[in-house]
Amino acid sequence: MTVHKKSREEIKLMREAGNIVALVHQEMKRIIEPGVSTKYLDDAAAKIIKEHKAIPTFLGYNGFPATICASVNGEVVHGIPRETCILKEGDIVSIDVGATYHGLVGDGAWTYPVGNISDECKMLLETTERALFAGIEKMKNNALLDDVSGAVEDVANEKKLGIVRQYGGHGVGRQMHEEPFVFNYRVGNKFVLKDGMTIAIEPMLNLGGDDVHTLEDDWTVVTNDGKPSAHFEHTVHVTDGEPEILTKLL
Ligand code: MG
Repeated sequence: MTVHKKSREEIKLMREAGNIVALVHQEMKRIIEPGVSTKYLDDAAAKIIKEHKAIPTFLGYNGFPATICASVNGEVVHGIPRETCILKEGDIVSIDVGATYHGLVGDGAWTYPVGNISDECKMLLETTERALFAGIEKMKNNALLDDVSGAVEDVANEKKLGIVRQYGGHGVGRQMHEEPFVFNYRVGNKFVLKDGMTIAIEPMLNLGGDDVHTLEDDWTVVTNDGKPSAHFEHTVHVTDGEPEILTKLL
């Protein structure tokens, strides 16, 4: 496995890319409400990325047709924004966005409530966010990647949430998807994290079972039981001190 440790210069650019991702999420939080379409959200995201002279990383990636992924309720990831997908009170919507700045990628996702949501959806969102930060906390120089996966798994198990098995985090940098792959549960992986690695951690947790499948559009991943799913992701820089979240506002 080849894992590229980033230079100081590359990390600097990844902070810029991450800041743009964070600006998009700041705007998503502001404009998500009942009655807006996921296409409207996509347009708003595209505008911010363009204004900051970055490139929407997802657009055209393996043919993906939009700037963001917008996945509603039982959709897990890779939902395609559409005019006809109108958010309504009580929905949850996962927004995933990537921005490439001078060749370096920031990748971050967040699940937002649409108006008032049920108590079980609130628990799902809170727990998935907590799982993300439990994983990030373990990202230190010389730590085992499997301990990051295990920290996510433990938080999910505490609330008996389903853990999506087929998708996970990944190295990120000059490519959106670099090695290593990051499972959201322990696999006995012996991979050791090192100072200078940049990795996206992204738990996807379900109110129901673990199992998911892809719809006929070849993109949208949905839960088999139709129950809601949440997705939280940050791009993180491993250092010899505290992990640095790159997908945050500068
Ligand atoms: Mg990702």
